[in-house]
Amino acid sequence: MKRRITTLLVLAIIISSVTWTKARAALTAPTLTQAYRKSDTITVKWEKISGVTGYQVRYSFDEDMAEPVKIKVKGRKNNKTAIEKADTTKNYFIQVRAYKVTDGKTTVSRWSNKVCVLGWDKTAEYAKNSKIHEDGACIYYASGKNATGITVCVNAGHGTAGGNKVKTLCHPDGSPKVTGGSTAKGAKEAAAVSSGTTFLDGITEAAVTLELAKAVKEKLLAEGYNVLMIRSTSDIQLDNVARTVLANNYADYHIALHYDSSENDKGAFYISVPDNKTYRNMNPVSENYKKHHKLGDALLSGFREAGVKIWSSGKMALDLTQTSYSTIPSVDVEVGDRASAHDEKTLKKISEGTACGIKKLK
Ligand SMILES: [Zn+2]
Repeated sequence: MKRRITTLLVLAIIISSVTWTKARAALTAPTLTQAYRKSDTITVKWEKISGVTGYQVRYSFDEDMAEPVKIKVKGRKNNKTAIEKADTTKNYFIQVRAYKVTDGKTTVSRWSNKVCVLGWDKTAEYAKNSKIHEDGACIYYASGKNATGITVCVNAGHGTAGGNKVKTLCHPDGSPKVTGGSTAKGAKEAAAVSSGTTFLDGITEAAVTLELAKAVKEKLLAEGYNVLMIRSTSDIQLDNVARTVLANNYADYHIALHYDSSENDKGAFYISVPDNKTYRNMNPVSENYKKHHKLGDALLSGFREAGVKIWSSGKMALDLTQTSYSTIPSVDVEVGDRASAHDEKTLKKISEGTACGIKKLK
């Protein structure tokens, strides 16, 4: 009799552990796909998980998720929530998990990948030179075993409504521009964010750079790089100075994605630092221009390997706001022009070239 009870007990344990394992296995952790802040509202989106009751979002001002605030989101299909009245000066670390209620018992998935929606630190170097910094960009952390701990800022060019009507200083010290470009040589101020060009088929450069940035983000995350995504939507209120300040403070590399205004599909190139003594002696260009070139050259090499067409020598020297304020390796890459293809396959090729280039930087 005793033996039978023991056998039953063992069986019960096995069955219950099987049920437990199944319940846990059935609850896949969702992937947090998008987060950004428009003024004081943070939007968080994730992938739907089938068969769950709902989701729980948690956020903390601490990287290790200490003292988190939790938000319950009922319903399997509700894969989006908002954090209202956010403190726009603080960084919000955010995760999501799925939960399921069965016979009154709640089981939960693991927490998802982590993201950080950035606040604006007005004391950061050069922050006072920015005029537009209402919104918040987001860092996506690579969570795979191949995580490198390296953060790449992916800056989808343009996409700041009204940005062309506001002026910011071209150089941190207020000195005049040494080359022409979208702003004339000698100018001390330039559009905070210009509108960008329009493709021959009518689509805006800003729309294409956003799609490309999303593709680059996915590729870099898969390769183990954290990604600071400046823009996740058609509009973000962050000017070129603000974008550069964020990259300086939170990233190891800054890549701005652009398309040139030519219309012969001439190929990709990066904007190099003009060979001008005054400019190359200016802070922070003096300390960093060689690093910008190294990053640009690595990207060209990655593009070549991925089969992306390169224009001429692959570089053009211009005095840019981005370069003038960058304290980390930083380049503007013109990946094509108004006549270039921008279908999914083409953007994927460019994103592969970008990841391939970054990997060359050791
Ligand atoms: Zn552009």
